[in-house]
Amino acid sequence: MAELEGLEFGKSDFVLLDEVTMEQFMENLKLRFEKGRIYTYIGEVVVSVNPYTQMDIYGKDTIDAYRGRELYENPPHLYAVSDAAYKAMKRRAKDTCIVISGESGAGKTEASKFIMQYIAAITNPSQRAEVESVKNVLLKSNCVLEAFGNAKTNRNDNSSRFGKYMDINFNFNGDPTGGHINNYLLEKSRVVQQQDGERNFHSFYQTSNNDRSSHKAVMSALGVIGFSKEEINSIYQILASILLLGNLQFESDGEIVQIVGLEAVEHISELTETDSESVSKSLLYRTVATGGGEVIEKGHTEHEASFGRDAFVKALYERLFGWIVGRINSVIEVKDYNPVLHGKNTVIGVLDIYGFEIFDNNSFEQFCINYCNEKLQQLFIEVILRQEQDEYQREGITWQHIDYFNNQIIVDLVEQPHKGIISILDEACLSVGKVTDTVCLDSMDIKLAQHPHYTSRKLSPTDKTMDFQKHFRIRHYAGDVTYSVEGFLDKNKDMLFQDFKRLMYNSANPVLKEMWPDGQLSITEVTKRPLTAATLFKNSIVALVDKLACKEPYYVRCIKPNEMKSPVLFDDARCQHQVAYLGLMENVMVRRAGFAYRQPYLRFLQRYKMTCEYTWPNHLMATDREAVEAIVTQHGFQGDVEYGHTKLFVRTPRSLYTLEQERATL
Ligand code: ATP
Ligand code: MG
Repeated sequence: MAELEGLEFGKSDFVLLDEVTMEQFMENLKLRFEKGRIYTYIGEVVVSVNPYTQMDIYGKDTIDAYRGRELYENPPHLYAVSDAAYKAMKRRAKDTCIVISGESGAGKTEASKFIMQYIAAITNPSQRAEVESVKNVLLKSNCVLEAFGNAKTNRNDNSSRFGKYMDINFNFNGDPTGGHINNYLLEKSRVVQQQDGERNFHSFYQTSNNDRSSHKAVMSALGVIGFSKEEINSIYQILASILLLGNLQFESDGEIVQIVGLEAVEHISELTETDSESVSKSLLYRTVATGGGEVIEKGHTEHEASFGRDAFVKALYERLFGWIVGRINSVIEVKDYNPVLHGKNTVIGVLDIYGFEIFDNNSFEQFCINYCNEKLQQLFIEVILRQEQDEYQREGITWQHIDYFNNQIIVDLVEQPHKGIISILDEACLSVGKVTDTVCLDSMDIKLAQHPHYTSRKLSPTDKTMDFQKHFRIRHYAGDVTYSVEGFLDKNKDMLFQDFKRLMYNSANPVLKEMWPDGQLSITEVTKRPLTAATLFKNSIVALVDKLACKEPYYVRCIKPNEMKSPVLFDDARCQHQVAYLGLMENVMVRRAGFAYRQPYLRFLQRYKMTCEYTWPNHLMATDREAVEAIVTQHGFQGDVEYGHTKLFVRTPRSLYTLEQERATL
């Protein structure tokens, strides 16, 4: 119990609130934020509020204070859960994971870095060179991934535009031996288009002169990870060719479409080490297989040419990013691991993934991201309840089930085969006739009319906030989101002409060629029905959830205190909204409905033995459990506890609170 800070800083665990009301929750959160206490627990969950200022709480002294300690021995901190996850992994050989969630700018990526730094700091005390090198690569990978996957947005100057899950592998000594990174849904549309006030990915600015210091840091990180000179050159050649391609224009006299400015094409062909004729050709024509098996070249309209160019540019960047992640993985993957010789290889996973998004205009990307959050919420509910129930069962204690909103119904709305939104979208994308976004919306309206979490203007005509042709709305667990179907089909099809793939596969640059293995297929060999973007995303999220579900999870729930990036402003309404949709109130209630606190008998004794004459300085009873009973009885809260096989369970926090206060006055 982390009541080491004094009451003026509020309650260090929301479970200790006198009453679980939104008012009390918010009051405590705000008080702690204002007092510079950015972390608060709900049991083992860390609630973190972005301080928007450098805090002096991450240094070596702090690391030492948390190393090997129990959660309640120190004030709440990311380091405490990192240590808990590490201990579970090391002592009990459990795979664990730390799931970090929250909206853009809430501090997820910073938290994930502090967690990694902590783990790096407490491992490998003997400084073995190969472990140090693994740690170094793991830490440096952040810098590279941020350069290529982060961008300045209106919400966050360093916003991650991809989801990241990183496994860190440990040997039986508890030292890192390697890792693996999975990336999810890079926001590649940013390469061709950004909203007002936003920027492209950081990497593009680091090639020009205005971001020299970051450029240096990235170059050095690439070197440490082990990228060769040729590879690094290739990366920058690809970035430059993307910039040139992105600026390429087409003109048409009504019949023939041409590229404006052929010098750029020359330059692109040099950078991509391809032949300039082929570059022009793939920008202006596509190869199609006719029904009769004949292969012909079909000229693009101006619109098709622009569409093709954009798709190409986005794919180039996406593949570059994927290749960089793959390259890092090839360096950090655990090699020569022999479980018989080396014992069980355990893992800590760290998930830093986009939070729930509600914008003014919500499109396909928000649809995917919000679906991902529904899945993670589902896991959170399952795990928290399951873990609680498991523990009570293990300890031989009965408890009362409490009601909570189960969002499985929304998960089904999105992912159910045949009936779900993704299926309907896929069906529309794969049908042969000309299906538009609006036709697809009609089809959703018909199939989902009865669904309590789905609506559209057609289904509720009096709702003037939606457009007849464009909008549908999902009642997410975190709130209602209105999506515009415009562009859904194109984004879901995610089509790229085979000609571009072949062009890249034929590049003389081995790095580029490696990124485009599917370019070796001729048009007649190409599978007609590749998986759609939504289905690929769904599959990757299902796999992610499976991975998380078999690990012991720890949660960090991040809150963004205001929109101004201010260290002193606590915007009550914005914060309350986040508390609501992160399900924190339910979390506290679940935690309290059962038993707010549980402690192994010995730990309890060590902490409170001075409050009871029979146990101080040492007890003479047969078991620790009896000694604990003596303390409980002396303080008169027998009715508030249950005795498990190895732990004491305390129903209301007040009882422990009394003990804590008494302890403080002694
Ligand atoms: P996104 O979803 O957009 O990637 P995020 O949740 O990852 O957002 P971060 O990039 O981690 O958000 O944080 C945004 C900014 O807030 C950081 O660049 C930093 O300036 C500040 N910040 C976050 N956490 C901390 C912290 N613990 N100490 C100091 N500053 C912080
Ligand atoms: Mg981030």
